[in-house]
Amino acid sequence: MPELPEVETIRRDLVPLLVGRGVTRVAIHPGGERLAVTHSPREMEAELAGRRVEEIARHGKYLLLRLDDGRTWVVHLRMTGSLMHTTDEAPAHRFERARIDLDDGTSLRFNDLRKFGTWHLVEEERDAMPLAGPDALSEAFSPRWLRERLKGRIAPVKTLLLDQRVAAGVGNIYADEALWIAKVHPATAAGRLGAARVNRLHAAVLETLHDSLGDRGSSFSDYRDGLGGEGLHHVRVHVFRRDGQPCARCGTTIVKTKVGGRGTHFCPRCQRI
Ligand SMILES: [Zn+2]
Repeated sequence: MPELPEVETIRRDLVPLLVGRGVTRVAIHPGGERLAVTHSPREMEAELAGRRVEEIARHGKYLLLRLDDGRTWVVHLRMTGSLMHTTDEAPAHRFERARIDLDDGTSLRFNDLRKFGTWHLVEEERDAMPLAGPDALSEAFSPRWLRERLKGRIAPVKTLLLDQRVAAGVGNIYADEALWIAKVHPATAAGRLGAARVNRLHAAVLETLHDSLGDRGSSFSDYRDGLGGEGLHHVRVHVFRRDGQPCARCGTTIVKTKVGGRGTHFCPRCQRI
C-alpha cells in the first residue's frame, strides 16, 4: 500500500503536469463506482469537468487537488490505487477505474486492482480525513508530540505508529523500518519507552521516510509513481519483507511475526523488549 513517500512522489510528479490545467472530461468506468464517496459517479464526473487544478498538496496518504472553485478533490489510493499521467491515446490499463482528460490533450488514469481507492470532493479538507493527525513530515509531528501520544499507553509501539492520528502517512513498511533504525522492539508497550528512546524513534521515522522519498518510494507490489514507473526503495529496506535474511547491523536472521494483527519484521537481537 502506498505510504507517505509513495504518495509524495506521485504529488511531485503531478505538480508540473497538472497545476494550471483544466479538466475537460472525467469518466468513472463500470466497476469503479465505489471510488466516488461524496457524490454519485455521474455527479462526480459532472462536478470535476470544467474545473482547473490550482495546487496539489498532501496530508499523510491523502492527495489534495485544490480546485479553482475552492473545493478540494481528495484522493486516497488505499491498497493498490495509482494515479498516472499519460497521453490521451494510451490504451487503458487492465485495472483502469477512471480517466481524467486534461485541456492539453493528456490524461490521468486511476488504476486500482482491489478497488478500495476513494475520491472525495469537499469544501473542507478535514471532512475527507477526519481521523488524520499531523503529517509525519510536518513540524507538528514533533518529538514532543510523539512522546505525548505514547505516554502511558500499553498498546504496542508499532500499533501506535500505524495510527494515522499519531503520525499521518506512516504505514507498515516505514513503521517496521523506523523501529529497526531506532532499535526498538515493535511489541514494546509504548508507555514503557523513555523520552530518549521516543526521540530516537521520532528521528528514525523521519530518516526512513526521507530515505525512501530519495528513492521515489518502494514498489513491493502495485505501487507506481505519477508517470507509471517503479520506486527503488524496496531493494534498500532493512527489515520489511526481509525475514530469513541477515540483519545488516548484526547478522542475526530477521524474523516475521504479528503485532496488532499486522505482519511485522524485526531483528530479534538489535530490537529487544
Ligand atoms: Zn540486528
